[in-house]
Amino acid sequence: MLSVIRENVRLAPYTTLRIGGIARYFADITDEDQLREALHFAEKNSLPVLVLGGGSNVLIADVGFSGVVLHIVNEGIIFHPAQKDEARVTAAAGEEWDKFVRQCVARELAGVECLSGIPGLVGGTPIQNVGAYGQEVSETIVSVRAFDRQTKQITEMTNEDCRFSYRASIFNTTERDRYIVLSVTFKLTPHGAPSLRYGDLQKYFAERSQSPSLQEVRDAVLAIRASKGMIIVPSDPDCQSAGSFFKNPMVSAAKFAEVEAAARQQNLLCEDESLPHFAMPQGQIKIPAAWLIEKAGFPKGYERGRVGISSKHTLAIINRSSATATELLTFVAQIQNQVQERFGLALVPEPVWIGLENHTPVTLPPILQKSDVRPPNTEPPEPWNLSLKPGRRFRKPEHNPLKTERKKWFE
Ligand SMILES: Cc1cc2nc3c(=O)[nH]c(=O)nc-3n(C[C@H](O)[C@H](O)[C@H](O)COP(=O)(O)OP(=O)(O)OC[C@H]3O[C@@H](n4cnc5c(N)ncnc54)[C@H](O)[C@@H]3O)c2cc1C
Repeated sequence: MLSVIRENVRLAPYTTLRIGGIARYFADITDEDQLREALHFAEKNSLPVLVLGGGSNVLIADVGFSGVVLHIVNEGIIFHPAQKDEARVTAAAGEEWDKFVRQCVARELAGVECLSGIPGLVGGTPIQNVGAYGQEVSETIVSVRAFDRQTKQITEMTNEDCRFSYRASIFNTTERDRYIVLSVTFKLTPHGAPSLRYGDLQKYFAERSQSPSLQEVRDAVLAIRASKGMIIVPSDPDCQSAGSFFKNPMVSAAKFAEVEAAARQQNLLCEDESLPHFAMPQGQIKIPAAWLIEKAGFPKGYERGRVGISSKHTLAIINRSSATATELLTFVAQIQNQVQERFGLALVPEPVWIGLENHTPVTLPPILQKSDVRPPNTEPPEPWNLSLKPGRRFRKPEHNPLKTERKKWFE
């Protein structure tokens, strides 16, 4: 066996959720030769392969992984000579993403500043077209260098080849498990203006007459993310998550009207208020999953045994202490069932499930009783007490907390 391959390695410490059983084989891959050798070992022994980066977007089964885990940790960031209005930077897949962003911002290169503080490694970013605060990596990725497991060759893929869309690319859809990303090249703008497309960021700098610098925008993003537990702080249980657990549903105008009507019928909106939403290209409408989850009875800080919802962010499901994947999935199913029941929408999880492909969603999870979830049209507990009374139409109050909260739903 190769010296780089270890046996029976616990996977939980390699994930931000701190969940996952044992990997039969595990290899830290620092160069292409090691990668080829480890793949050869897996093939020779007919073992499945799992590619792991920073483990910030995975949920691994309690039984672990009975094949070879390739932990991609190659290093190197190359700042190519800048042109007047364009600077290319190539980062190895194993580089920490936020270190890369920090170095770009320090060199006054615009294009990734809003993606500050996202956990994980560079190689993980093209997989789900990582995005935050109005920026996505698809806007700046020029090419992705990857090992093609089908042809066993290294290939250079263009931005178009990756077919990026909201939280998707060929890497997590049509060509899932085919490519192992080795490095990514970005096209950034020297001394470019920071992106301030997002409401929260605009608000942060609203008092300022001068436009903020790239560094100031990075600092603001980090501060906003920290307030929501969206950067990893090892001692904070609110950070033991995979970030946003569900994608924001994208629906047609007709479906949006249906969901809004359901919300209105349950007295979840006041008369002149519309369901929080964000218009997307091609007539699609994005509904904040956080709003749906809260209104389905799962507010921030909700606890269910060893799992729960972050006290800082409704979309983050957390491992409160030594939870298992089974416990977490049971809770996830509960949330999905309630959202489906109340709004007719299926919430789609964002993290990649490993070893859980045959997991069947539980209809009525054993650790939960029906009575644990607030039935529709009943008075909600704190912090739900938003002047909503059962069976009563919500009239304009002097201060409407539903409204002041609205801008915060897409985070
Ligand atoms: C607190 C927190 C906040 C977050 N905030 C955001 C956010 O704002 N926006 C956002 O989009 N995401 C966010 N995420 C999710 C996550 O950080 C990103 O998706 C990240 O890019 C995943 O990278 P990773 O290296 O951790 O990948 P992993 O979790 O290790 O892997 C994720 C998937 O990518 C595959 N993969 C990883 N590396 C490679 C590679 N080199 N080649 C091929 N496949 C690979 C894996 O096989 C797996 O399928 C957040 C997560 C956390 C915990």
